[in-house]
Amino acid sequence: MPRILDGVAIAAAIKQEVAEEVRALAAQGVRPGLAAVLVGNVPASEIYVRSKVQTCADLGLYSELITPAATVSTEEMLALVAGLNARDEIDGILIQLPLPAQVDTKALLDAVAPTKDVDGFHPINAGRLQAGRPALAPCTPAGIIEILKRSEIPISGRHAVVVGRSDIVGKPAAMLLLNQNATVTICHSKTRDLGAITRQADILVAAIGRAGFITPEMVQPGATIIDVGINRITERSEFDLFFAGDPKREATFARRGSTLVGDVHPKAFELAGAYTPVPGGVGPLTIAMLMANTVRAAKMRRGL
Ligand code: NDP
Repeated sequence: MPRILDGVAIAAAIKQEVAEEVRALAAQGVRPGLAAVLVGNVPASEIYVRSKVQTCADLGLYSELITPAATVSTEEMLALVAGLNARDEIDGILIQLPLPAQVDTKALLDAVAPTKDVDGFHPINAGRLQAGRPALAPCTPAGIIEILKRSEIPISGRHAVVVGRSDIVGKPAAMLLLNQNATVTICHSKTRDLGAITRQADILVAAIGRAGFITPEMVQPGATIIDVGINRITERSEFDLFFAGDPKREATFARRGSTLVGDVHPKAFELAGAYTPVPGGVGPLTIAMLMANTVRAAKMRRGL
């Protein structure tokens, strides 16, 4: 039976450690603070941001939710970010993506002070990560490393195959794995004979954004599979492709009219040595690592 890597438990342990650090910093008169910027009314973004703000409260961090209207301009957003960069009680700035089309997302992410870039999206932090220097690393990839380390899955010398090369997940995940001495292959939509490469993976990271894309014949038996994908299924026919005969999923689907599937087909997990489930795998780590990054940013900026 493959081992299930419980992201909820690992995230809880990290959050507890963060809360302890926050208490220790309070004794030195420091309270790490996060500013979350949520533009417009995208329901999924609202859910994410609210849970980030709530987690700040749970762990003792200061937080501020800033909600510009959906019609905000790039200039107004740049002015907002400049103000947050200048405020001493703000250690982390989070700009929830996606932004409305009229806002220049790259210009905005580049405007966040690298020392407050708790999402790790600034090119300076990407460069520092690449150069093996201390950096604020993107939260989801940093969470992947935490899952592997805390589950005592060896990384050094192992072949890690990352499918997906986004700036948010795939590329930084590959870089972090390389920094941990994995032999890393990055695959993407132009990769030829993808299965031949993924079958060589001791650690397979799927960050594609396509439901159940990694099928059993693409997996080396015994591999560790990290499924980053989050895809919502609402059609019965699609549900049956992945979860036919699974009573727990049937119950969720009947109750909610939808369920989540990752980028890995559930049948492929059966071959794994260990894997992260969806939901309850990588997802919970993202917020935990955001909290950890905010505390780290607070300490780094104060030279602690
Ligand atoms: P992007 O759409 O930015 O990137 C997808 C990547 O997959 C691209 O590099 C693309 O290649 C590659 N790809 C697409 N089709 C194929 C294919 N047929 N074969 C090989 N590679 C392919 O997505 P993200 O990186 O932002 O997200 C990936 C997944 O992770 C999504 O499901 C997202 O919801 C989830 N996610 C989960 C998070 C969490 O907290 N758990 C956080 C962030 C994302 P190319 O570059 O050539 O186009």
